Amino acid sequence: MEERARSCLLRSRATLEQDIKASYLMDHMISDGVLTGVEEERVLSKPTRREQAAALLEVLLWKDNRAYISFYNALIRESYGDLASLLHNDLPQLSPEGEKSYSNGISPTVQAILSEGGVPQRPVVFVNRPALLNKVREKLYKLQNAVGWVTVFGMAGSGKSVLAAESVKDHTLIKECFPDGIHWLSVGQCERADLLVRLQSLCFRLEQSQVSEAPLRPPSSLEEAKERLRFLMLRRFPRALLILDDVWDSYTLRAFDIQCRVLLTTRNRSLTDSVSGRFSVPVESGLDEEKALEILALYVNGKLHNLPEQARSIVKECKGSPLVVSLIGALLREFPERWGYYLRQLQKKQFQRIRKSSSYDYEALDQAMDASLQVLKKEHRELYKDLSVLEKDVKVPAKVLSVLWGKELEDVEDVLQEFVNKSLLFRDCNQRPYLYYLHDLQLDFLTEQNRSQLAVSLHSKVIRQYQQAYSKGLPTSVDVECLYWYRFLPHHMARAGLSKELYSLMFSLDWVKNKAQIMGSAHLINDYVEYGAILDQENSEVRLQFQEFLSLNGHQLEQRPFPDVVQLALSQPHSSEVYKQALLQAKERANRG
Ligand code: ADP
Repeated sequence: MEERARSCLLRSRATLEQDIKASYLMDHMISDGVLTGVEEERVLSKPTRREQAAALLEVLLWKDNRAYISFYNALIRESYGDLASLLHNDLPQLSPEGEKSYSNGISPTVQAILSEGGVPQRPVVFVNRPALLNKVREKLYKLQNAVGWVTVFGMAGSGKSVLAAESVKDHTLIKECFPDGIHWLSVGQCERADLLVRLQSLCFRLEQSQVSEAPLRPPSSLEEAKERLRFLMLRRFPRALLILDDVWDSYTLRAFDIQCRVLLTTRNRSLTDSVSGRFSVPVESGLDEEKALEILALYVNGKLHNLPEQARSIVKECKGSPLVVSLIGALLREFPERWGYYLRQLQKKQFQRIRKSSSYDYEALDQAMDASLQVLKKEHRELYKDLSVLEKDVKVPAKVLSVLWGKELEDVEDVLQEFVNKSLLFRDCNQRPYLYYLHDLQLDFLTEQNRSQLAVSLHSKVIRQYQQAYSKGLPTSVDVECLYWYRFLPHHMARAGLSKELYSLMFSLDWVKNKAQIMGSAHLINDYVEYGAILDQENSEVRLQFQEFLSLNGHQLEQRPFPDVVQLALSQPHSSEVYKQALLQAKERANRG
C-alpha cells in the first residue's frame, strides 16, 4: 500500500476502531478478493466489536492499494459515509495512466513496493544511463517465467548499486515479472557470523511483511537460515526478486542459492560461474563523458553547453567515476568559481604514496576526497575522521554518532546533513530512523589516511564515549542504537587494544544475556572465537566456560519468549564462572524479594 494511503489509515485508526463493524465490511472485502477466509476468521476470533475492528485494520495495513480501495467502498456501502470521507483524499490511483503521470516516473505504488523491500533511493543528483538500464531490464525479463541470476559486475564506485536500484523502478516489470515484491539486501564483504545476521534480518523482514500467527525465533545457523529463506521465497514470495548488493565471494553466494530470482551486483566477474540460469551485464568503470558532464551541470544548476572547458578535463582525470564526479560536483555547487582549482587538485596525485588496500585503486578519489575534506570546518573534519572506525558496509543511525561525538542528536543530524550534501556520506531513507553509511572506497581512503591513529586514538575514543553514555548500564532494546553496540563494542575494544575492558565485558553474564536476547546466540559464540586469543591471555578457562554455556544452550537462547538466563546458567558446573555469576544474581533477586 502506498505511503499516503497507509499514513491516512494510521491517522484515522482510532476513529475507525471506535465506529466500524468489521464483520459487515469483511463480506465486501472478501468478494473483492482482497481478504482471505483465514484472515476473516482471525478477525472474528477477537471477543469484542472494537477488538475485531482493530484486528481488521491491522490486517489492512499490510495489504496493497486495492485493499484500501475495497475497504473504502465497503464503508460507503455500509453507510459509513463520514468515515469514508476520512479516507477519500488519499485514495490511491490504480489506472495505468495514474501510474505514469508522476514527475520522477516512479508511481507511489512502485515507490511503496520498493521502500517496503528496502531498495535505496536515487542519489541526490542522478543521471539516467538508459542503454545500461535497458540491458539490465532485458535480462530481468528473462526471469519472468524461470528462476535464475542476473549479475551486474564492474569496479567499485562504477554505479552498480545505483543501476540495480534503478532497474526495478518500473511498474510493468514489477507487475509482469516480480508481482511478489522486490527485496534488497546489502551484503558486502562478510564473515560467517555477519552473513548469518544479514540472513536473519532478511528472513525477519520477509516474515514481517505478512501477518503471521506468531513471530518465529531467528534462525540460529547459516544452514537453518538458508532453509528458512528458501521456504519463505518458495511458499510466500514465489515470484519476488531478491537483490543482493555487492557480493564478494562464492561462499556468500551459496547461502542464497535457493532456486529463486536474484539480481546481484559484484566486482567479481566470475562469481556466478557455478550457478545455473545466469545472465550478466558489465558496467564500465566510468560514466561516458556526456553523462559525467551532466552530473557536474546538475550540481551547479547549469546547462551542459555552459560548462567551462575544465569540466571535460575533470571528467577525464577521474575517468568518469560517478563517485568522484559527485564529490567534485558537490564542491563546485558551493564554490562555483573553482573549476580550475579542483582540476589542479585532481592532477596533483600527491596521494599516490599512500599504501593501497585491496579495493582501493582510484587516485582521483583520493584527491577529490581530500579537496572535500579541506572545505569542511576544522571541527567537522575531525568528526568525519572519526568515521574511520566504522566497518565496511555497516549503516548506523545518527544516535550512534551522537554517542561517539558526545553531541545532541539534532546537532549530529545537522553535521550529517552537511556530509550528505557534499557526497561524503550516504543516507538510507528506507529505514526509520535514517541510517548513514560511507561508500567503501571512502572508508578505504579514511582508513589509509588515519592508519596510525586508528587504534590508539580513534577506537579508544569510541570506548571512552560509550562508557560515558552508558555509565548506568548496558543499552537496552528500546535504544535504537543498541544493535550497533551489541555487534561492534567488542570489536572496538579489541582494535583499541583495551584487553581489560574486553575481558570484563565478555566475561559478564549480563552482556551475554542482553546480546543473546537482541542478536541471538550465534553471533555471541562467534565473538568468543574471534577474540579468543586476547581473552585467553586473561583466562582461557573462563573463556571456554562461557563458550560452552552458549553452545549447550544456544537453542534455548533462540526461543521467544526469551528464557531466564540466570536459571539456565545455574545448571552449569559449580566451578564455572557462568554459574558463579548466576548464583550471585539469584541471591540478589532473592534479597530483593
Ligand atoms: P558501486 O555499487 O559500483 O560501488 P554505487 O552505485 O554505490 O557504486 O555508486 C557510487 C556513487 O556514485 C553513488 O553513491 C553516487 O554518488 C554516484 N553515482 C552512481 N551512479 C550514479 C548515477 N547514475 N547518477 C549520479 N550519480 C551516480
